[in-house]
Amino acid sequence: MKNLVLATGNDHKAEEFKDLFTHCEFKILSANKYGGMPEVIEDGKSFQANAYLKAYALSKQLKKKHWVIADDSGLEVDYLDGAPGIYSARYAGAKASDMDNVNKLLGALSGVSKSKRRARFRCVLCLIDKEGAAFYFEGSCEGIIGLKPKGKSGFGYDPIFLPDGYESSFAELGESIKMQLSHRAIAVTTCKNFFEKKL
Ligand code: IMP
Repeated sequence: MKNLVLATGNDHKAEEFKDLFTHCEFKILSANKYGGMPEVIEDGKSFQANAYLKAYALSKQLKKKHWVIADDSGLEVDYLDGAPGIYSARYAGAKASDMDNVNKLLGALSGVSKSKRRARFRCVLCLIDKEGAAFYFEGSCEGIIGLKPKGKSGFGYDPIFLPDGYESSFAELGESIKMQLSHRAIAVTTCKNFFEKKL
């Protein structure tokens, strides 16, 4: 069993990672056990660059004594040329809440028909090993943006994201369905498959 220290301050993401990394070679440990997640300025221009910045900052804090994992993720809306993208967490401002971001996005899509509300969640994982080598894994999940927030589960844009094949939002579908379909789930499965062969 290999320990992976998770580079995130987002409790929802941490819960999802713990669930996704069951029945495998890896055990997810919280950065809180290792001095907490260091402050990171996410000024990368891609999900990959920002995932690396987070993983590198934690790896450095841990003096490379542990493997670490970070993800950077977000929502791309075609009608908005891919926005909010890497700015998903701070779409409505630096201190925006999830609901502020959701409301801003719904405003930007006001009057836009269902056929033009195509979007996808994307996730890039970055693992850094004890030698400092970085490994990347990606996942995406296609869907559309709903007309209004629905459901209570999850976080972020879950109440307005309807994955393909469903008329309900991720927040209505709940964690067990999200764990099968999500961008994060796909990236984690790719990662687990890669290391199953390698370790
Ligand atoms: P990060 O923590 O810098 O990667 O920011 C990711 C942001 O993208 C989150 O704050 C959410 O707004 C959004 N996001 C990423 N993954 C999800 C998800 O699974 N559900 C809903 N929103 C998500």
